[in-house]
Amino acid sequence: MRKADRKDVLKNRRVIQSLIFLSVIFVFLGIVLWRNTSRGSTAYVERDDFIFGTLVRVVVASEKQDPETIIDAMIQEMKRIESKFHPYHNGSSVIFKLNHSSKAMTVDEETAFLISKSLYYSKLTAGAFDPALGRLIKLWGFDSPDTEKKLPKPEEIQEALKASGYRNVKVNVKEVLLENGVWLDLGGIAKGYAVDQAVRIAKRMDENATGFVDAGGDIAIIGPKFGQYPWKIGIRDPRGGPQDIVGVVYLSEGAIATSGDYERYFEVEGIRYHHILDPQTGYPARKAISATVIAKKLVDADALATAAFVLGWHKIVEGFVGIGAQAMIIDAEGNTFKTRGFSAYEKE
Ligand code: ADP
Ligand code: MG
Repeated sequence: MRKADRKDVLKNRRVIQSLIFLSVIFVFLGIVLWRNTSRGSTAYVERDDFIFGTLVRVVVASEKQDPETIIDAMIQEMKRIESKFHPYHNGSSVIFKLNHSSKAMTVDEETAFLISKSLYYSKLTAGAFDPALGRLIKLWGFDSPDTEKKLPKPEEIQEALKASGYRNVKVNVKEVLLENGVWLDLGGIAKGYAVDQAVRIAKRMDENATGFVDAGGDIAIIGPKFGQYPWKIGIRDPRGGPQDIVGVVYLSEGAIATSGDYERYFEVEGIRYHHILDPQTGYPARKAISATVIAKKLVDADALATAAFVLGWHKIVEGFVGIGAQAMIIDAEGNTFKTRGFSAYEKE
């Protein structure tokens, strides 16, 4: 073989090798792209439902199960918990029964768990979170959207205050006793618990499922977007419209809850009376207009957000970081306060 021919053969071999190499790269890239698009937006299934008096949006993607089946189970679970813990209008709910029993009652494990958890948060927040304000909440008309809203008389508030307060709730394993005629209202924590349970069900059906549940701004993450990106979550502007936000946070896991004075309220002579009560006064809490908490579980974020709303910017709220939570408060003057560590969630 001539020297020039040998050179040609070598050249051809190199060209063929390069072509093979390039095709391998393209096939590989093709697979990666296909996997990403196949997990892309089309794979997410969304459903809205009305639970806990609010719009609940469930967004799920799963490669193992039909997302519709997962969403069915999640919504069923949230509705079960909603009716189980409804304090006022469901005579068969466990809370209704407790509230209308003068003796100690033995409850199921889940009920004992949620009441105990509530009392834990009462103690942690110097009573700002109080699950035994049922009589006051009924008096203010926040037991149902249909109840007529009117300003109670000061003596009515004093009367209801006497029959309120978490110190009157005694739990001994599964035995619950309500003293002094107090009524339980777990409205500040039950929604968070229900959403956590729904997420747990989604994970049980497919441990790699992703998506989130948004229950009127209280959000728990099932898994990151397309398995890899954090979800971008807007924090509502308490004095803006439903679409206006004061900031965004990015979450790949965990939960975020916001308590605001714009969710349920009525006005008398220009003064806003809303649904989060200060257990010390019996009147709507005034130290904040919005409180947001990020935590691992929504049950914790929900209770802590309600407490932070009552406390305003307070050393107890700064102490939330000690139990792995972060908080952001907006006070009545529009000032914003954040725990150290909150800003880490504001970066993508
Ligand atoms: P939302 O349900 O609007 O997200 P929250 O989580 O703050 O808001 O819960 C408010 C509900 O909690 C009220 O509707 C009432 O049922 C109950 N609640 C009101 N004040 C308190 C309080 N100080 N501590 C615990 N629960 C409260
Ligand atoms: Mg709450």
